[in-house]
Parts: sequence; structure tokens; C-alpha cells
Amino acid sequence: MQAKAAVLRASGTPLEVRTVTVDDPGPGQVRVKLSACGLCHTDQSVLEGVLPAMNPLVLGHEGAGVVESVGAGVTALAPGDHVIMTTTAFCGRCLQCVEGQYAQCERMPLTNNTSTPFHLDGDDLTPFASVGGLCEYTVVAENTAIKIADDIPLLSASLLGCGVITGVGAAINTAGVRPGTSCAVWGAGGVGLSVIQGCRIAGASAIVAIDMNPDKLDLARRVGATHVVDASGENAVERVMALTGGRGADYTFEAIGVGATMEQAWMAARRGGTATIVGVGRFDDAFSLSAGLVAVTEKTLKGSFCGGGASVRDFPRMLDWYRAGKLELDALVTTTYPIEETARAFADMTAGRNARGVVVF
Ligand SMILES: [Zn+2]
Ligand SMILES: [Zn+2]
Repeated sequence: MQAKAAVLRASGTPLEVRTVTVDDPGPGQVRVKLSACGLCHTDQSVLEGVLPAMNPLVLGHEGAGVVESVGAGVTALAPGDHVIMTTTAFCGRCLQCVEGQYAQCERMPLTNNTSTPFHLDGDDLTPFASVGGLCEYTVVAENTAIKIADDIPLLSASLLGCGVITGVGAAINTAGVRPGTSCAVWGAGGVGLSVIQGCRIAGASAIVAIDMNPDKLDLARRVGATHVVDASGENAVERVMALTGGRGADYTFEAIGVGATMEQAWMAARRGGTATIVGVGRFDDAFSLSAGLVAVTEKTLKGSFCGGGASVRDFPRMLDWYRAGKLELDALVTTTYPIEETARAFADMTAGRNARGVVVF
């Protein structure tokens, strides 16, 4: 079939919105009619060449939709099922999967995915991050599409696919935030706002949001921040220390992807506390820790990728929280775009205009 898609032929070349040919689903695959796909900074990183694209791509990885058809041998899904795509489909058999570290599955394809269900002008295109959600239809492996209840609006549900599970999962799965604790979160975009919500749902009593955009700080307050720090005019580490009685926060999070703010998050964690890095930065952007203080302060530094990757468990659980009014999704969608305006949507994201911009089909 034919479908409109946001195509990237090679890193650093312009995005093209073109009509591509989409294959029928092969054995073990499903074809999904997308309803919505959120834009994530990881897509932008591939566009800019910060993250190398191994193949020509259909961009997008934060998608939700309805199963249109299934290939041979598919048992878990049927046409008509509502699904959210996951970027961390896992095999369940490698060492890390057996250890419960699903986001570290050795068989997870990510950018090295070589399946090519899309075709354009003689090029075979790969679905980015196994999803390829910026297309009217995509073809994914059966375990990449997670079935959800029919009553959840698919526009809201799409955010769970990357930004929300990444943020909420970092707080709940990776850091394991406990009730009554203090948290500080660098970055109040789609991911940082989700970290804030995860901390609130876990029962944290103080949540400090740090950003340089007043609109995002307003949104941070709406979703659960008890204090906000505008880092354009204030020293964030000093403010977090002051707000926690000079001790530092029990849990700090970096949701920007910049070495300097990762260092701040480490500095602002209390002795014996935990700093969790959620942002993905440039490979050549480093930060430093004092060799004299790491052992002495007994702080823990953790990385958190895609919220720990347990989407099979976490999508339904987080949608229960959404239904119960505990997890805000709709307020995170600040602008929607038709697929023809994907380039404008990326420009708005780069300019910091959106908590989440979402392409709707
Ligand atoms: Zn993402
Ligand atoms: Zn595995």
C-alpha cells in the first residue's frame, strides 16, 4: 500500500515528507495504522547527524495506533487491536533480559534494525528505533506493538511510547523513589515533566524542577513540582541545596542530555543519594567527578534508558494511572501537526516551543 511518511535518506540531509510503499506484514510482524506519533529529541539527533543513521529511515518512534493486518504466526495481536509501539522490544532470552534489564537486551535492534518495510525511489527504508511512527502505516515485529485498552485516546497514549515511559520509569523503576523524599529534576520537557510525575506518583514530598523556560516551569508546577528554579538567573545547585536544608536532594535526575547539567545533578544529590541520568547527550560531551569525593560521599550514579524498558508491564500500569487522574498526558501535548508539517514540528521542538509536539494522522 501507499502511505505518507517522514523520510530521512542520510544523517544531516533534509527531512522529506513523501509517499512510500509499505509492505504487507511478514511472518511475526503486524501492520499498524498510526493515529499519532510524538516527536522526540532522539529523532532530531538523527536528523542533525548527532546520532548516526545506519540506513535510510522513516523517522518517529513515539507512536500509537490500531493493528490493520497481521502476518503469519502472529498470536498476541489481531486486526482492530489498539497498540502503543515500544522502542525496547526485548528477546527475553539474553543475559540482560534474564537479569530483568530489558532496555539492555542484546538483540534489541534500535538504529541497527535492518528490516525494510518501506520503499521509495529504489531505496529500502528502515523504521527508526524499530517503530517508524512518522508514517500513516508502519510494519513492526509483533513484540514491538503492545496491546492496550480501547478506551484510551490514542493521541494521549502515543506519549507513553518514549517520553513518558522514559521519565516515569526513571523515577519508579531506575531510581526507585521512596515516599516522603526530596527530588530535583533538570529539564522540564516531555521527559523531565514525566520524571516529575513519576516522583509525585511515588510519593516524594518535595520536587524541584529546573529549566530556563518559564512556560515549561509553569507546566512543571501543574504536574507536580513543589518548587521551580529558573536556571537562566539562578544557580541551580545552590538553590537545590538551599531548598533541602543544605543537604542535597535524595534523588536527582538529568533529563536534558548535556554533560554540564549531569554534573550539576550529581553535585546536588545528597551524601548517599542517587543521581539518575536520563538525557542522552553527544558522545564527545563529558563531565567529571572528583576522585576524592565519589567513595567518600557514597553517592550512586545511575543511567536510565527508556525507563528501564519494561513496557509490557508499564504501559498498562501507567494507563491505569492516567485513567485514575494520577498521570497527566493531555497537558503534555502542546501542539499537533499534520504529517506534511513535520519539518515545522521539529523546528518548534528545537526552539523549545513544545512540551510535546505530536503528528496526528
Ligand atoms: Zn524518544
Ligand atoms: Zn534480550
